[in-house]
Amino acid sequence: MLVLENVHTHYGKIEALHGVSVEVNQGEIVSLIGANGAGKTTLLMTVCGSPQASSGSVFLEGRDITHAPTASIMRSGIAIVPEGRRVFSGLTVEENLHMGGFFNSKAEIRKSQDHVYELFPRLKEREQQRAGTMSGGEQQMLAIGRALMSKPRMIILDEPSLGLAPIVIQQIFEIIGQLREEGITVFLVEQNAHQALSLADRGYVLETGRIRLHDTGANLLANPDVRNAYLGG
Ligand code: ATP
Repeated sequence: MLVLENVHTHYGKIEALHGVSVEVNQGEIVSLIGANGAGKTTLLMTVCGSPQASSGSVFLEGRDITHAPTASIMRSGIAIVPEGRRVFSGLTVEENLHMGGFFNSKAEIRKSQDHVYELFPRLKEREQQRAGTMSGGEQQMLAIGRALMSKPRMIILDEPSLGLAPIVIQQIFEIIGQLREEGITVFLVEQNAHQALSLADRGYVLETGRIRLHDTGANLLANPDVRNAYLGG
């Protein structure tokens, strides 16, 4: 569904990705793990076309999107939940969801909204609450809900567990598992390697702009190098 082939990405003269190849197949959860500064966010942003790859290719459902404008990529069945959630804090839960369905008709928005409330009853309860007054976990649910409003075939999540308490992290990962049940392909970027690999069908380890390892989630969890570097031995 998503293929990166030998992607190099630069910020000015600095190369942040040094020839990265990643594949995410339809219906999978694929996790990308790596330390701070490994290039995880850069990889996701390269998929979204900002910055664009300086060489190599990105394909979405067989279409070459390497040089497509971000707006058109975002309209082709991908939704992204950015790091730090970035909900509109002055808007209510409902208004935030409507922002996510911006390109859809009113009837479609209503249908998607009902579906998001089925997945996240907590958001329904807080429909008229301003997003900025909600807990970190609720804001993360809202960020995921908002991404679902565009009815994506694939959702990309950038460190959804960041800054959340363990019990809330557990809930967020359960929700991500549910997305796969709904047939949505998930590309998950995480520093929380244990949770991310436990949930994933397959995983990639990114180190200083290069893929060092890729395997099934279970094999990576059992890999001694991964255990030492990312799972505390
Ligand atoms: P983190 O987990 O801390 O978010 P990351 O794995 O997502 O890290 P990136 O944010 O992709 O890593 O950063 C990869 C490298 O690219 C780092 O060396 C970073 O300093 C550099 N970088 C990221 N964004 C920019 C930018 N806008 N301009 C210049 N360099 C950047």
